[in-house]
Amino acid sequence: MISVEEALARTTEAFSPLPGEEVSLEKALGRVLAEDAYAAVSHPPTDVSAMDGYAVRAKDVAQVPVSLSVMGEAPAGGAYKDEVMSGQAVRIFTGGTVPQGADTIIIQENTERNGETVMVVKGARDGTYIRRQGMDFKTDEVGLKAGRRLAPRDIAFAAAMNLSHLTVRRKPSIAILSTGNELILPGKTPGPNRIPGSNGPGLAAFVDSCGGNPMDLGIAPDDEKALAALATGAKDSDLLVTSGGVSVGDHDIVRDALGRHGLKVNFWGVAMRPGKPLLFGHFSGVPFLGFPGNPVATLVCATVYLRPAIDAMLGVCDGRTEEISARLTCNLDANDERQCYLRAHLSTDREGNMTATPLPKQDSAMISILSQANGLLIRPPNAQAAKVGECVTVIPLAGRHAG
Ligand code: AMP
Ligand code: MG
Repeated sequence: MISVEEALARTTEAFSPLPGEEVSLEKALGRVLAEDAYAAVSHPPTDVSAMDGYAVRAKDVAQVPVSLSVMGEAPAGGAYKDEVMSGQAVRIFTGGTVPQGADTIIIQENTERNGETVMVVKGARDGTYIRRQGMDFKTDEVGLKAGRRLAPRDIAFAAAMNLSHLTVRRKPSIAILSTGNELILPGKTPGPNRIPGSNGPGLAAFVDSCGGNPMDLGIAPDDEKALAALATGAKDSDLLVTSGGVSVGDHDIVRDALGRHGLKVNFWGVAMRPGKPLLFGHFSGVPFLGFPGNPVATLVCATVYLRPAIDAMLGVCDGRTEEISARLTCNLDANDERQCYLRAHLSTDREGNMTATPLPKQDSAMISILSQANGLLIRPPNAQAAKVGECVTVIPLAGRHAG
């Protein structure tokens, strides 16, 4: 059995960034930039006012109160064409271009308007409330770097850079095949000894949340021919993920059955709990991850191996699985040689410290417990017993798209 690190290194190595494709900004959320995005304009394009008020010459307002002649207006989207001379002011609004000759904005609140004149009651130094040309960004600067997963604020930034389209990585196509004679589609009436298959929908949602395109190949019975036939549906995918049938039972046929139909095994078995029988290789040239069928094992393996695989195909710059430190709220026994991923509840104590509480039941069949958890507490191989208050490493699961 190899270690989690070794397994992760071997799986991740099999993937490289996919080609780019152009998408409109409306379709770009959550996608990963394949190329740097350059600003097509500067922002602001000229020196502009940051406030509603009057554009003046600083020298004119060194002594206040002072009365200035209002010569015209500079609204956002417009401009005052002439130069502001001594003794003059121009009514200006936020975003309006600062007219020539003016070097200071007096905010409206510090003035009294009287017809064609304005009384400045409080002065301001040279440059006050002026946003300089290119202060935010300049034409041809790299605004967003390749490898960035685009958030709503990045979409706004791209639009501000006057870009309507961005080049992002093609979404990896991930084929998902569930195996097991006992499985039915969720919502169907279960016959005797049948259970709804939860790994297919879970993995599809997981892939989606990572920025991949899930392709459900359905449920294969524990039968070589049927399994191999369904697995060939993955031939144009970037990765085939199966669940179930990789353990040591008589009906765990995936390795042998697919082995006779083009599966080349890289490794089988990892020192982890849950997830020990993880199988990795290539099926007719397509990278292949065979996850154990227990629902928690499947989703733990997805978190540890599938997300990094998708990240590698997307070329994300911060592809490492997020790990945080948290304080234990209970004692833990010493660990054996397998790295454990305990379903845990993360919280914050009164002092603001992150805390981790392993949930009382850790059976890898219990999807309800994984659903309740918001973290996976990592117990490294051979970890010594740990006491309340000690720091442990946790993979957070909470968030809009918890993995
Ligand atoms: P296996 O890895 O095929 O030996 O399956 C281990 C356990 O996980 C068995 O109790 C299976 O019934 C269960 N299992 C396998 N696949 C699924 C699935 N897609 N959804 C829910 N449970 C499953
Ligand atoms: Mg099975």
